[in-house]
Amino acid sequence: MTSSFSNLGLSEPLARAVLEMGYETMTPIQEQAIPVVLQGKDVMGAAQTGTGKTAAFALPLLQRMMKHENASTSPARHPVRALVLLPTRELAVQVAQQVELYAKYTNLRSTVVFGGMDMKPQTLELKKGVEVLVATPGRLLDHIEAKNTVLNQVEYVVLDEADRMLDIGFLPDLQRILSYLPKQRITLLFSATFSNEIKRLASSYLQDPVTIEVARSNAAASTVEQHFYSVGADDKRRALHQILKARELRQAFVFVNSKLGCARLARSLEREGLKTTALHGDKSQDERLKALEAFKQGEVDLLVCTDVAARGLDIKDVPAVFNFDVPFNAEDYVHRIGRTGRAGASGLAVSFVASSDQRLVADIEKLINTKVEIEPLEFDDERPRISEQGRINDGRRMYREGAGDEGAMAESRTNEVARPPRERQDRPERRERREHLPHRQAHAPRDPFFDLPYESNAAPGAQPVWEAAGKTVPARSGVSANIKPKKKVAALFKIAG
Ligand code: AMP
Repeated sequence: MTSSFSNLGLSEPLARAVLEMGYETMTPIQEQAIPVVLQGKDVMGAAQTGTGKTAAFALPLLQRMMKHENASTSPARHPVRALVLLPTRELAVQVAQQVELYAKYTNLRSTVVFGGMDMKPQTLELKKGVEVLVATPGRLLDHIEAKNTVLNQVEYVVLDEADRMLDIGFLPDLQRILSYLPKQRITLLFSATFSNEIKRLASSYLQDPVTIEVARSNAAASTVEQHFYSVGADDKRRALHQILKARELRQAFVFVNSKLGCARLARSLEREGLKTTALHGDKSQDERLKALEAFKQGEVDLLVCTDVAARGLDIKDVPAVFNFDVPFNAEDYVHRIGRTGRAGASGLAVSFVASSDQRLVADIEKLINTKVEIEPLEFDDERPRISEQGRINDGRRMYREGAGDEGAMAESRTNEVARPPRERQDRPERRERREHLPHRQAHAPRDPFFDLPYESNAAPGAQPVWEAAGKTVPARSGVSANIKPKKKVAALFKIAG
């Protein structure tokens, strides 16, 4: 096993780009996945954003595509050969940015398409011809329907953040997209967790995948210092100020559970002198990108966000993540704190636990397999407050709990739960829509696909739902009809070292 990029035998333009990125050693997912992808095998990788998984798939795919590299201006000489599918615009943009950096000294072209934006500029890029297409499923289907791109020469497919794509309800879109692709291809699937749904997806579309797990699938980053403080709702903002000051934190992410709470908290913090931006599903794509950029440039101190809006944000070196609200879903805890302590850097994750959050904390304990200690938080100033147990901390004056933000929070939670899910029609809004749903609900997608047996154990003659309407390729024994066995070829790349 090697941990240096120089031992991979990458072609000079790719090696130069990696050097320029300043990467010295490979991350565990890179160490394990790159050689396997170079050999042309399918991969099922358990890795979260922040582990370096983009380079883990992008570098070997670019390397394999180098044989097609050409400087021709003809679009026909630049067909889509690699398709990378992601659940959100932000993730798609970030992955596309990374791919562009890795490919910058090659003639391989890449672009990104995602919903919520005018299709025209994307169409122009697609029509010029690109080898790597990064996309969110809904918008990609729009482009396919508009015949802006042809996918019959795709050799590589990456289903990135596959668990999230299923959560959001993209499965039917994925099935349609995959049905347009050549069945003989290399498919890579990355997911934070390997749920049964993910395993079933893999068994339908991957061929003898090599399973790579860089850490326990639900493990929280070990480089993150985690604290859970018992803080009454009225004291949360004060606690936030105090910790920011005590730890001399310049920037942080602050997570809340609702859009309403997000906007409200951002306004309050701004009034209290912190440069704050809210990031939630009601913000336009342009506003989100601007907010992100401002944060990256250091013009904003705090990014107050909801889970969906923050999903996959690739901002390096965020020193701290605050869970102003304990997330409704334990998996979101792992995703949230994954924003800090990334790629080897150390980070701080602070959760404010209200008395009503005990059950949510117990869920987190179960998921991360660690006993959580809920610590009391001593305030520096004289201002008295009521503790979570209802005792007055300094015995002088009582603060009434529940009159402030907690009431608002409870209201917004109720709103989220009460709002009924709408029909899935307008694709660009699908992701935002999830913010209206309680997370638990979002994790139990109802789709006929899940009620039908997979092909491998289906009754004789039964068709998978996604094939039922169209033409069906007869399944070979043990191989899904959605994939064709790969040609046996000698390993193209040898890993030295
Ligand atoms: P990803 O998980 O692909 O989103 O990557 C997270 C961050 O880690 C990105 O900003 C990458 O630029 C960075 N990164 C990826 N690979 C390495 C590496 N080998 N060494 C240092 N940083 C890396």
